[in-house]
Amino acid sequence: MSDSSADFAALPLAPELLSNLATLGYHTMTPIQAESLPPMLAGRDVIARAKTGSGKTAAFGLGLLSRLSLSNSSVQGLVLCPTRELADQVAGELRRLARSLPNVKVLTLCGGAPLRPQRASLEHGAHLVVGTPGRVEEHLRKGWLMLDGLETLVLDEADRMLDMGFQAAMEAIIAETPASRQMLLFSATYAEAIRPIAERLMRDPVTVEVAEPH
Ligand code: ADP
Ligand code: MG
Repeated sequence: MSDSSADFAALPLAPELLSNLATLGYHTMTPIQAESLPPMLAGRDVIARAKTGSGKTAAFGLGLLSRLSLSNSSVQGLVLCPTRELADQVAGELRRLARSLPNVKVLTLCGGAPLRPQRASLEHGAHLVVGTPGRVEEHLRKGWLMLDGLETLVLDEADRMLDMGFQAAMEAIIAETPASRQMLLFSATYAEAIRPIAERLMRDPVTVEVAEPH
């Protein structure tokens, strides 16, 4: 199938990212990538919904990597995930997508792992942090994680994070991010519970959804 509108090359992405996508075998955008990447790359806040397995990680991953300034060692992107397993998967995908860029540091901060090595890794610097809300909030509260240089905040599987009781931790984290940051909210299901948070904390978000075929 050749649909030039689904070609990653139609996007304003760095040539290194485009050539790496080809290496990864990502030849055309999935529908949610095609819908969400243009507003994301234009700097808009985005609410995106599409079923599991539709390529949401690469969608926000390319958004994160496009805004990254490698000369700056502060945490510029933060992805919150409901579980450690999902955070590990997201971190793995971000590392694959970033392979053609020099030395992008991706750090995971999840509960169930000792705090001290995570603190040491933070001291060495990370461009992108992926973690679960409870543990990320703990690092923030202790003053080990600084988010004042944050460019992009991603709530991945936002609906599941709310179901798991992470609302207070999520809100505490969001409150520590600069008002100017871009906020991206990804989920697989329509979550009524997320709407008040989105309306209160996002700036004029663009909503994109890919409906499941009946
Ligand atoms: P979701 O978060 O929507 O559940 P994932 O981000 O985990 O989905 O992606 C599912 C799979 O699709 C992954 O194995 C990923 O490598 C693959 N994938 C993502 N984007 C593309 C693409 N444009 N072309 C081919 N495969 C892709
Ligand atoms: Mg996902």
